[in-house]
Amino acid sequence: MSSRILPNFDLLVPNSTSEAVNLLSHYKDRAALIAGGTDLVVAMKMNHHPEILISISEIDGLDYIDFNPDSGLHLGAKATVANLLEHPAVKEHYPALWQAADVFATPQIRTAATVMGNVLRGSPAGDCSCALLALGARILLQSAEGTREVAIEDFWTGYNQNARRDDEVAIEMIIDAPHSGTGSAFRRMTRVNEDLAKLNGSVRLEMDGKICTSARIAMGCVGPTTLRLPKTEKLLCNEEITPELLAHVIDTVPTEISPIDDKRSTAEYRLMVSGVVIKRLIEQAATAAAEK
Ligand SMILES: Cc1cc2nc3c(=O)[nH]c(=O)nc-3n(C[C@H](O)[C@H](O)[C@H](O)COP(=O)(O)OP(=O)(O)OC[C@H]3O[C@@H](n4cnc5c(N)ncnc54)[C@H](O)[C@@H]3O)c2cc1C
Repeated sequence: MSSRILPNFDLLVPNSTSEAVNLLSHYKDRAALIAGGTDLVVAMKMNHHPEILISISEIDGLDYIDFNPDSGLHLGAKATVANLLEHPAVKEHYPALWQAADVFATPQIRTAATVMGNVLRGSPAGDCSCALLALGARILLQSAEGTREVAIEDFWTGYNQNARRDDEVAIEMIIDAPHSGTGSAFRRMTRVNEDLAKLNGSVRLEMDGKICTSARIAMGCVGPTTLRLPKTEKLLCNEEITPELLAHVIDTVPTEISPIDDKRSTAEYRLMVSGVVIKRLIEQAATAAAEK
């Protein structure tokens, strides 16, 4: 049931990642980590009632966004959506992620909301999540046993569910550096500005001149998790992007998604527009690739 009143909880504020890890390994599913709180606090007013919140706010050094042409983009767990927008390397090398940040919520929410929290929430409507799936991000998780890396396509296991264990802190997200000839793009459709998406999509293409050598395509709000569209990706591989191929894309995309009716849209509408959204994203990503 929804309420404006938060249930009681204890707040623990560790100063280091190892302290957070120790607290989690002790409290496990009795505790929830809180970053910006923009999802968690809403959930706590509904049906999620952790006894203990472990805030990462006082852990220094987790708010970095580092880009290196060899090792790619590294985002610390406290990097916010607003931080992404301010980072020139994100705009230049990962335009899909920058575009997702640009339409995300309001300046107030962007300042609090972390990119990691968006992925950890596991909502199929997550905007950064959709771009990160197209860009092939990896999530670094730390527990008392050490660290492990999970590819984003293996991370979401169901609606609002993910592969993080109760004793793990997500500490970093990594995206490989793009080769030359790589372009990416993100778009979303909403009922009104500042609403969650009723449909979002993202495309990353690697081009060799006019030939597409690799494609990653992601779509949100069309299944229990944000989805990759492997049949559509395969259509593009080692092909020139022609109007005929794009017509084929428009027909194929709806065969790969399973949207439902909800308060933001209908399954029928989502099926009808999905192919055109991806076609436009492919054109946009191909244009971006040509400029590289
Ligand atoms: C008014 C409003 C508008 C919004 N608009 C948009 C929008 O346009 N697009 C969009 O995609 N989203 C939107 N959101 C959703 C939200 O802002 C994002 O999902 C946000 O990125 C979540 O990050 P956070 O730091 O607030 O996470 P929190 O709420 O702190 O946490 C979210 C989840 O992740 C877990 N978690 C967070 N950090 C870690 C960590 N380091 N390790 C392990 N677990 C962790 C928490 O335990 C929790 O389960 C909106 C929310 C609101 C309230």
